[in-house]
Amino acid sequence: MTRRLNVLILALLVLIGAPYYWYLLDNRPGDVPPKAVTIAQLRQLASARPGPAPKAVEVELVSFRRVPGTLFAAGIGLKRRLIGVMVWRLPVDGTGPIVIDSGLDAQAAESMGMESFNHAAWGHVKTALAESSLTLITHEHPDHLGGLLSWAGRSAFGKAQLNGPQQIAAAKQLDVPVRDAATVAVGAPFAVAPGVVAIPAASHTPGSQMIFVRLADGREYLFTGDIATLTHSWRELRARSRLVGAVLAPEDRREVYAWLKTIRALKVEAPRLIILTGHDYEAVFDRDHPTGVKNGFSLSQINAARP
Ligand SMILES: [Zn+2]
Repeated sequence: MTRRLNVLILALLVLIGAPYYWYLLDNRPGDVPPKAVTIAQLRQLASARPGPAPKAVEVELVSFRRVPGTLFAAGIGLKRRLIGVMVWRLPVDGTGPIVIDSGLDAQAAESMGMESFNHAAWGHVKTALAESSLTLITHEHPDHLGGLLSWAGRSAFGKAQLNGPQQIAAAKQLDVPVRDAATVAVGAPFAVAPGVVAIPAASHTPGSQMIFVRLADGREYLFTGDIATLTHSWRELRARSRLVGAVLAPEDRREVYAWLKTIRALKVEAPRLIILTGHDYEAVFDRDHPTGVKNGFSLSQINAARP
């Protein structure tokens, strides 16, 4: 009897424990090396284009939900973490702001199972997209690209600089031409605007890219998109759980690890570099690690232009 019980317990442990480990805990980064991207290269590209660099970083939290942390940073535990849908606005003297990512509208938030949607914040995002001089998207998922697509009837879409895979994703939803036939975002980092550099980083999605920004006052930021969903992702080198990264939203996990290692290497090279992740809103306002990001968009430029 006891032996049968032991066998039963062992069988249950294997049946439940093995998939639990594989799908929720396993975080073995393997031996993939970091990418050959250096802070010197990014700084050189940031100063390659003449003109004023952005002067600040602002964020709007459009929507959020709380889910067990291990889903998005494998092995950090079941404690629920805030997964924020954020849009970034970088004001630039003399021209419209640069917007990074575009959030999502209320309908998309509901269909993604978000807990909360901030209509005022979404209104600010739409205004920022409309007045932007340039919009960049970290990757072609609905909570990053979706806002731009749902707002594309306006002039906002024309100011977005999408890479090939992002254009392909947009074309699936909208009647827009695909100008860049590339199906994977790879290659060397390149300057997109004064102080702003795109780093092609196919991994989480084929069109994933990170954005390096050197502000006019010299402060430096790296927008990782969902290569790093949370601060745990890059600081502790943790990819998404396989439940998310292999089943729900398949990604190239090996490449994600390579880029997470790259983020860490850049942070070692430049300790004052501020890493802004795809969804860690709480980290943006962590008093122990100040980021200098302003909470909420300053829409004074627009308001000033109104009669
Ligand atoms: Zn995301």
